[in-house]
Amino acid sequence: MLIAPTPKGLYCAAGDFYVDPWQPVDRAVITHAHSDHARPGSGAYLASRAGLPVLQTRLGPDASIEGLAYGEVRDIGGVKVSLHPAGHVLGSAQVRVEHGGEVWVVSGDYKLDPDPTCAPFEPVRCNVFITESTFGLPIYRWQAPSEIFGGIDRWWARNARDGRASVLFGYAFGKAQRILASVDASIGPIVVHGAVESLNYGYRECGVALPETTLVSDSHPRRDYAGALIVAPPSAQSTPWLRRFGDYSDAFASGWMAIRGARRQRSVDQGFVLSDHADWPSLLSAIGSTGAERVYVTHGQVEPLVRFLSERGLDAQAMKTEFEGEAGAEETKPGSEWSSPEGKLHSDPGFGGDPS
Ligand SMILES: [Zn+2]
Ligand SMILES: [Zn+2]
Repeated sequence: MLIAPTPKGLYCAAGDFYVDPWQPVDRAVITHAHSDHARPGSGAYLASRAGLPVLQTRLGPDASIEGLAYGEVRDIGGVKVSLHPAGHVLGSAQVRVEHGGEVWVVSGDYKLDPDPTCAPFEPVRCNVFITESTFGLPIYRWQAPSEIFGGIDRWWARNARDGRASVLFGYAFGKAQRILASVDASIGPIVVHGAVESLNYGYRECGVALPETTLVSDSHPRRDYAGALIVAPPSAQSTPWLRRFGDYSDAFASGWMAIRGARRQRSVDQGFVLSDHADWPSLLSAIGSTGAERVYVTHGQVEPLVRFLSERGLDAQAMKTEFEGEAGAEETKPGSEWSSPEGKLHSDPGFGGDPS
């Protein structure tokens, strides 16, 4: 096997490097900066140049990271390595590894739907495709982004008309910026939680156009938030931080909102089904477009996808990893681990010292 699971992570022995290792290693190739894929402590990192400032913030100022342009080929110990857009979040990449006449691709996380904050998913032909399967069940079928954001805009405009604020919860890294870049900013002012703004900083540094945002802690203590859209990480839900917004309607943006039980559990006024992962049709289409004869499924709904592909004559198998998918690291951790380049966002008041 050109890439095999080991106790430290997915390992390419021929080139002596790991892809998204979950323990510190000498040489790591990183698909994207979500905390279950990019972990600190490794000796040297190779990652997409597109999201480098964000990854550097994630791994810390001392981490040695080399940026590679999409499509640029790097020789690592006789193995050809290149990165290709995964369409998941800013800088997200699939890792293409070529050696001894075989091509393997590690998908990382990906989606096929358009997203103004990152380069679109690029199908890469390969012999073996290692894919995620966060939403690998036929019940997961996303609406077109334009329809989803139309719904968010209508909810926000209705609240503004009724003199209420609109609080929208979404993961601080990726989801929040996609929301900011996609809503109709003419509806009203946009206010963000510190964990979101520190990521916005990295996105703007990378040239991603986001509308004007105000940091909650920077706004006047007696400010009236009626008509504003407030974007906050899920961890801000049910905290005193929300009291300042007065009368508000709240909503949650996540792929899990497709499940009635998840919506109830979150006990918000609205659930918007918005995911940065591929839905079921997109998983099948992405896998098909690689032309791979063998597929390994790493995380999420592994068994249903393996069974479905096997029944269609593909050599499909589960591959055990420590990636967590949308329910794991991307939901709960990023906010708590981000700090702003100026450091001041670290101590967003009203959040108990933990900016998550
Ligand atoms: Zn991810
Ligand atoms: Zn993942």
